[in-house]
Amino acid sequence: GPLVGNLIGEDHVNYVLMYNMLTGIRIAVSRCQAKIRRPLTDEDYTARHKYSFDIVGNELTPSAKYDFKFKDYAPWVFRELREDYFHLDPADYLLSLTAKYILSELGSPGKSGSFFYFSRDYRFIIKTIHHSEHKYLRRILKKYYEHVKSNPHTLISRFYGLHRVKLPHGRKIHFVIMNNLFPAHKDIHETYDLKGSTVGREYPEEKAAKNPRAVLKDLNWIKRGKTLELGPEKRALLTEQLRRDSELLKELGVMDYSLLVGIHEMQRGNRDNVRRNTLKVFSPDMPLISRKKTVSKGPQSPEAIAMRRIMREADPQQLGAALNLPEEDTGERQHFLFYQDEGGLRATDEANENMDVIYYLGVIDILTPYSAFKKLEHFWKGLSADRHKISPVPPAEYAGRFFAFMKAVMRGGEGGARFKSE
Ligand code: ATP
Ligand code: CA
Ligand code: CA
Repeated sequence: GPLVGNLIGEDHVNYVLMYNMLTGIRIAVSRCQAKIRRPLTDEDYTARHKYSFDIVGNELTPSAKYDFKFKDYAPWVFRELREDYFHLDPADYLLSLTAKYILSELGSPGKSGSFFYFSRDYRFIIKTIHHSEHKYLRRILKKYYEHVKSNPHTLISRFYGLHRVKLPHGRKIHFVIMNNLFPAHKDIHETYDLKGSTVGREYPEEKAAKNPRAVLKDLNWIKRGKTLELGPEKRALLTEQLRRDSELLKELGVMDYSLLVGIHEMQRGNRDNVRRNTLKVFSPDMPLISRKKTVSKGPQSPEAIAMRRIMREADPQQLGAALNLPEEDTGERQHFLFYQDEGGLRATDEANENMDVIYYLGVIDILTPYSAFKKLEHFWKGLSADRHKISPVPPAEYAGRFFAFMKAVMRGGEGGARFKSE
């Protein structure tokens, strides 16, 4: 059947978690939003607001279906980021995420064990993160904020919120909300996750031939002889922004991030369904851990039943209507240089004239500090391969290599030949 991710119904193992996340966001974000804006203070970066939900409710929190605790981190900082720099309409943000409790879930697409959830309109991604990533984001928040402020067109992930759900038995789940780089209404025909490292960075071509949803890597890019087709104007702009972004990442001491590249060929259009494609990018090589559902079939809401029926019928148009997908990429993307052309960046030739390809680009997975673990991994991998090509290298080296590769992937970019011959 078509891949539309797993819509999370009441019988899904992660339904309670989704319910708690969305309830927490709805209450916490609207609470902060209701207050009158004031200038940020230093305390705002470390602030955390606690909420306690239960089935009875109290003067601070309405009654909820389950007992859980919720923490909202640096709410004022994220509010300002969303409103002033990411150009999100506050009501829109809350509506997309929480007007109906619908998320679709993709299992863990990476090795990290994180889970990804899409808001029902596919504009937002909720990514569960490791506690260390959470601590790290809090530590760098001020620098991140300053960077976004002075780089309105940054390619780095746009973080809209940082939260934590704590379940009654004590389990804590940290998560961020960020932008989905891929638009809901365009097919992504090829996806690459590029790090600038070549060791182990290949998705098997035999498998790729059968799976158009595969997330390809550096070596696939090189072997296929790909280039980002950008004329001098866009090339210069993109290079400069990538330079600034990798400077920041170097300064923050992170590594393991990548440039995500989604390619839409306008001639091919949207013959396959777009949303399926958006989800395809997450299609893991391994079976989805989260796919198993609980056996017990409790009472089901009419909404959940209707949704399942629609999913079964799987008519893309109908699904789009059911999920209230916007028809066009409107809204915040028009404010960003690299997301202006139908939500992305249109290819151009040497005369800066448009070509029939749109790129969807962003720097993702930026919360991995060069920790002791990575140092160890570096050591072990370093024994068996050229240590400058393996991915866990110190931040300065990682950033330098990343930036060099990104320059090389552009048409006319210096260094392309060097990378190809490696
Ligand atoms: P690992 O640490 O093993 O790389 P991870 O769990 O940290 O995995 P990410 O690297 O953040 O996961 O993302 C995995 C994949 O999910 C990416 O290669 C990309 O296909 C997709 N993805 C991640 N973030 C976004 C985003 N903002 N927009 C669109 N797709 C995304
Ligand atoms: Ca990654
Ligand atoms: Ca990661």
